[in-house]
Amino acid sequence: MSKDELSCSFCGRAKPQTQLLIAGLDAHICDKCIEQAHGIVLEEGQENKEKQKLEVELKTPKEIKTFLDQYVIGQDAAKKVLSVAVYNHYKRILQKQNEDQVEIQKSNILIVGQTGTGKTLLAQTISKLLKVPLAIVDATVLTEAGYVGEDVESILTRLLQAADYDLDRAQRGIVFIDEIDKIARKSDNPSITRDVSGEGVQQALLKLLEGTTVNVPPKGGRKHPDQKFIEVDTSNILFIAGGAFDGIEAHISKRLNVQAIGYKMDAERTQIKDKDLLQYITPTDIKAYGLIPEIIGRLPVLTHLKPLDAAALRAILTEPKNALVKQYEALFAMDDIQLSMTPGALEFIVSKAVEYKLGARGLRSLCEAILNEGMFELPKTETTELKVTKTYAEEQLGKIELPKLKAVS
Ligand code: ADP
Repeated sequence: MSKDELSCSFCGRAKPQTQLLIAGLDAHICDKCIEQAHGIVLEEGQENKEKQKLEVELKTPKEIKTFLDQYVIGQDAAKKVLSVAVYNHYKRILQKQNEDQVEIQKSNILIVGQTGTGKTLLAQTISKLLKVPLAIVDATVLTEAGYVGEDVESILTRLLQAADYDLDRAQRGIVFIDEIDKIARKSDNPSITRDVSGEGVQQALLKLLEGTTVNVPPKGGRKHPDQKFIEVDTSNILFIAGGAFDGIEAHISKRLNVQAIGYKMDAERTQIKDKDLLQYITPTDIKAYGLIPEIIGRLPVLTHLKPLDAAALRAILTEPKNALVKQYEALFAMDDIQLSMTPGALEFIVSKAVEYKLGARGLRSLCEAILNEGMFELPKTETTELKVTKTYAEEQLGKIELPKLKAVS
């Protein structure tokens, strides 16, 4: 067969009618068919990607809770509420893509709990499970547009950065807004001591929480006429807000007492101890604290975290998947040193954290202080073992001033 008689095995074009004819083992393919085939490959790839996107790793609430259990100690009630909220949120995203009839509203979450009880940790763990980007922002730095501070849009800049500027991923991500209680109005009565700046930020946040399209400066900073914006749609972003709401117990007990009038709740009322009050929290109390009703309405899932007691602190030291003690063991192991901490030492650390009201955050600084000497002295020596007993821990801790420790935490 002469060269001119060769033809494309796919479209049948003879060689002279093609720009290029590539020979395979038993067949030939022309430039046009290659291009077409390439197009098909790209399209298929895109479709697969879409399919993958749809499968936002939808886990059942039970699976979500089991995952959270690996990292977060206790807080069972909150974990259940969060698992369902997260499940519903991602169901909602999937449903939207199916253009179903019933429109499910967003299930943004509000977590109330003292600092250091695991609010941020919960948000981080959820984002880890779902493999979606997470932005952690502090509500106290946010200001109304035009004031010194960060515009609310900066939240989305952070999320874009966390998603490596992949807009699709960012639009399905999670934003954790910490210290939301700090932008509360100072008084329940709007006409008296209204804290205008706080309320302004709440107003600005409203739209984001609800779902809107926002022009976001990709590099952050002030809006600048020359800066190109990225349009971010917030309707599928899950917002989790957290705050300590110091003193909210007063509002809760006031409400409970008011409600109790005329009912035979007296006995019940006296049984409710101050420390248990948080479990009775309702949106009414949050409103009394100074968040505007519209914000509360857009954070429909409300849950609370319990203060951590000694048993929880003890568990936090050793039980979570990346527990502090496991981390230090790994650090020492890299220097071929086997670290062990006796139960007595661990209990001592917990008692100090409780005594100095350092909470879970304090555990880290206590461990750091106790192990510092070992981490400094032992690498590249003959030593292959460090056993931390209560006596050793006391000795090491005695070397530093505790007020300093407080500053670290
Ligand atoms: P918050 O956001 O409530 O102020 P964090 O989530 O930042 O508190 O918690 C601070 C640190 O304390 C975390 O990094 C974590 O190591 C530890 N921690 C707090 N609560 C828990 C918990 N329930 N389980 C495990 N670790 C916890």
